[in-house]
Amino acid sequence: MKPIPYSRQSISEDDIAAVSAVLRSDFLTQGGELPRFEAAFAEAHQVAHAVAVSNATAALHLACLALGVGPGTRVWTSPISFVASANCARYCGAEVDFVDIDAHTRNLSVASLRDKLQRAEREGALPRVLIPVDFAGLPADLAEIRGLADRYGFAIIEDASHATGATYRGGPVGSGWADATVFSFHAVKIITTGEGGLIATQSAALANRLRALRSHGITRDPNALQTPPEGEWVYEQQSLGYNLRMTELQAALGLSQLARLPALRAQRERLARRYDQLLADLPLACPARLADRCSAWHLYVVDLPSGAPWPGRAQVFAQMRAAGIGVNVHYIPIHTQPYYRALGFEPGDYPVAERYYAHALTLPLYPDLADDDQDRVVAALRVALQTQPVPSRAAAVLA
Ligand SMILES: *Cc1c(COP(=O)(O)O)cnc(C)c1O
Repeated sequence: MKPIPYSRQSISEDDIAAVSAVLRSDFLTQGGELPRFEAAFAEAHQVAHAVAVSNATAALHLACLALGVGPGTRVWTSPISFVASANCARYCGAEVDFVDIDAHTRNLSVASLRDKLQRAEREGALPRVLIPVDFAGLPADLAEIRGLADRYGFAIIEDASHATGATYRGGPVGSGWADATVFSFHAVKIITTGEGGLIATQSAALANRLRALRSHGITRDPNALQTPPEGEWVYEQQSLGYNLRMTELQAALGLSQLARLPALRAQRERLARRYDQLLADLPLACPARLADRCSAWHLYVVDLPSGAPWPGRAQVFAQMRAAGIGVNVHYIPIHTQPYYRALGFEPGDYPVAERYYAHALTLPLYPDLADDDQDRVVAALRVALQTQPVPSRAAAVLA
């Protein structure tokens, strides 16, 4: 039987036509598709400014720089995320620290954050920026986090890489609780540009800094030049920027995918509900649903039961993979990675995150997952959970 991946892009004939049209046009980069994509994304997310870049890692990096993250500053994030959520602060020479997660939502815990902020205030070690992650597509506790940001004076970069199209208290994610909201358009995310990322913000000043940073720190805007220009060729490099632009091919694909966002989201939501129902009698925990927010359903992560008579996660994972089911694990806690251990973090530092990680299994979920294939995933999981642990070598020798 055909293997089922854990995720996969959904590409329509319209998507293909949009990219082909760019290939036949005059501009492969720095043309009209990028501003059209940015304007459409901003409108769909009820936000004033959208700045698209080459990927979400670059978006996080530039958002950190634009918000003043640098040597001598601190950035806090969740240990249950992709490493990019923490690495962006290291690119800027800042110190990284983590806030443990909430076992129910799997997002950064507001209670842990409050405690940590009280301690940090006493020690004069408050963060410049907090990066809450909308894990699996479920928005973080943005209202509570906004309240703490206003009280303690840190900025919020929401990592919504999983959460394009998610809603929080009636509005789309990115519409203004955070100072900057970062989206990813990697192939497995909610909408894709192949590789791609975007920063949404209500601040014109921040958007201008981000636009300069993504293109060498150069401006050609006659109104922004420091010296009256001698002619139309004049540009000024006013700061040190990078080349982290998105191409016209990517922007055209993004624009076409954005038009499909409601349908792609609805399909993920339908499949997630179907998992909820199909798994209801199994001894595992399904993802949380909260009344004031809707997940974008990037990932469907179950918490496996622990201890005898249940097989461990490694065994369930191996058996599912052997059956051609592309299960996965999201994520190895960032602070336990060798790079972060070398900075002084240790296993045991964030016990809720580590307990979550020990039992987590990501089931396949993507818009084009067929119901039959989803049934196969659940059937394979039932078989795997009925499996007794393999006898250990010692037991085999004694017998
Ligand atoms: C995918 C992802 C990123 C990085 O996105 P890229 O576009 O691949 O650079 C960052 N944070 C999280 C939580 C992600 O899942």
